[in-house]
Amino acid sequence: MMKNRIEEYLDDLFPEPKCELIYHNDYELLIAIVLSAQSTDKRVNQVTPILFSKYSSLKELSEAPIEDLENIIRPVGSFRKKASFVKEISSIVVSQYQGIVPRNREALMEFPGVGRKTINVFLSEYYGETAIAVDTHVERVSKRLGLASKNDDVLTIEKKLMKKFSKEVWGKRHLQMVLFGRYYCKAVSPECKNCALLELCREKKKNI
Ligand code: SF4
Repeated sequence: MMKNRIEEYLDDLFPEPKCELIYHNDYELLIAIVLSAQSTDKRVNQVTPILFSKYSSLKELSEAPIEDLENIIRPVGSFRKKASFVKEISSIVVSQYQGIVPRNREALMEFPGVGRKTINVFLSEYYGETAIAVDTHVERVSKRLGLASKNDDVLTIEKKLMKKFSKEVWGKRHLQMVLFGRYYCKAVSPECKNCALLELCREKKKNI
């Protein structure tokens, strides 16, 4: 499949895109992704070093007092719900999977606070599996650039992107679109003046 203009631009801007969440193993990544829902990687990176140094194993996390987890992760928002997800996920991985996060979509779907996007990010980041996770940035960028229609839901967008991009670059394109949305094509005041995709964009007129 030939690269299109959007892909060329993304490759120029982010030749080697990296996930910005800090983690050291499988469960730290999964929990960081769960904490990042409706929050930012920056805020998650502020709380996870505290969380994972105070409770340095899954067993310790599963047994941590919920109030303490809530206090530590408070800055990421929805902290009560997320604290209980952290505790429950830790306990499931310890009791049912010998302390290893399962590399299995069906199993992961059963985890509290874990949905399709989380699973795609986890499997593609940790295991290099081919997947396109559609988060808020990917959704916005796809719609602005006409890679998806205005009313498409995230699953439809995911399918459209899978058709548009070669399978071997799905993970890379996901990361590039997240970074493009985070730093250039922002929800409010995007950097349209310098955007090489201005002509393709459905929102250009609104933003310059
Ligand atoms: Fe995003 Fe603006 Fe570029 Fe459109 S022109 S893709 S809104 S940065």
